Amino acid sequence: MKILFAIAFSILGLSACASKSPLSNQPTKNSAKAMQAPYVLLVSIDGFRWDYIEKYKPKFLNQWVKHSARLESLRPAFPTKTFPNHLTIVTGSYPQRHGILANSFYAPDLKKSYSLRKSEAVLNPDFYLVKPLWVLAQEQGMQAASYFWPGSEAPIAGTTPAMFMTYDHNKPHQERIDTVIDWYQLPAAQRPHLTTMYFHDVDAAGHDFGQDSPQLIAAINKVDNSIKTLVQKLKQLPIDVNIVLVSDHGMAQRKPSDFEKLPTWLTEQYYVKGSGPIVHIYDTKSASNTLVQTVEKLNATAQHFKCYRYQDIPPRFNASQSRRIGDIACLADKDWAIGMIGHRPVGDHGWSQFNTTDMDGIFYANGPAFKKSVKLPTLENIHIMPLLAHILGLEIPHEIDGNLQSLAPLLKTSKD
Ligand code: AMP
Ligand code: ZN
Ligand code: ZN
Repeated sequence: MKILFAIAFSILGLSACASKSPLSNQPTKNSAKAMQAPYVLLVSIDGFRWDYIEKYKPKFLNQWVKHSARLESLRPAFPTKTFPNHLTIVTGSYPQRHGILANSFYAPDLKKSYSLRKSEAVLNPDFYLVKPLWVLAQEQGMQAASYFWPGSEAPIAGTTPAMFMTYDHNKPHQERIDTVIDWYQLPAAQRPHLTTMYFHDVDAAGHDFGQDSPQLIAAINKVDNSIKTLVQKLKQLPIDVNIVLVSDHGMAQRKPSDFEKLPTWLTEQYYVKGSGPIVHIYDTKSASNTLVQTVEKLNATAQHFKCYRYQDIPPRFNASQSRRIGDIACLADKDWAIGMIGHRPVGDHGWSQFNTTDMDGIFYANGPAFKKSVKLPTLENIHIMPLLAHILGLEIPHEIDGNLQSLAPLLKTSKD
């Protein structure tokens, strides 16, 4: 048996870290204390709106969530986009603190651009300003693993999860599940206590085909079936795993004609990034106009958006501390898109998370650490990381935005 584990580990080790060898300062074993800790599997279904289960009743999840510790909905951070929110979930921090202010942005402090599609940027640890939970785990002698999560491939503070995968949109769900199950069958010393997984399908169908489309329903059912397989396989293991199922944001419907073009003089004077619900404008060319004047000029003719200098973004967005969101950020009205050329998707997210529930995602948890069938009202996703750190017995040695008290009522106590 031991040999089998050792062989499995060496094979997994090779494939998991195919892009590079593990970093030398990384512990490759659980400490004696970590070996006693619970197991947490954090699964993200990108773009899974808070009401999809009630609305579409996917066979497996419709039952599974009934027994879960859950939230009415999970409120994302601003901007309500994939990378900012996945990093918020694992750092307990708003994007202005963790540094990933958009899927694509310019970092004036680094004089570099970040994009989820540029691997040299995604892999560059300089962009990530707060250690994710897996880094804290590894630093505190606990094995972590990731079958995809934004940021998981970068050696943040010199550390990646002990096992991680290079992102591949097309990787079949079955392979993802099999590999995670293989990780759980490693000897206790190597077995990850914190593992992440990610599924993109529901977000993609929501963007391309919109609410109530057969394609969206098919994607929900596909992921539902994968979660069913995952849960069934986990049940056969001799360990009891806490499954925390989340999403990064919701999805809203947009009429393709609801697009407002930004004036062309903007690109002559500034570096403009993005289109859709939010556009980021950077003063990389040291434009002669002051930014205050530019904002006034933009807002004077704006029909369906409002622009702010980053410092003036309303406090409720928690986004006024970082120039990475843009020297100027223009926020489209709900269900409107803005940009220089056009904007394709019929479904989208990225708008304000306030005065609507459309941007809200999900939080459902089942496992030995959680109470059964308990529900709290809508809460922010900044609180997930301190909850998971608490379950795993990890210390958070730096300041974050979330707190443990908010989600603690979902946890079993000694009396339960
Ligand atoms: P969004 O535009 O906010 O909907 O971003 C969703 C996109 O993020 C999807 O197309 C995913 O393929 C992509 N994505 C998710 N996770 C990763 C990752 N770890 N690395 C690169 N791209 C990713
Ligand atoms: Zn997303
Ligand atoms: Zn999306």
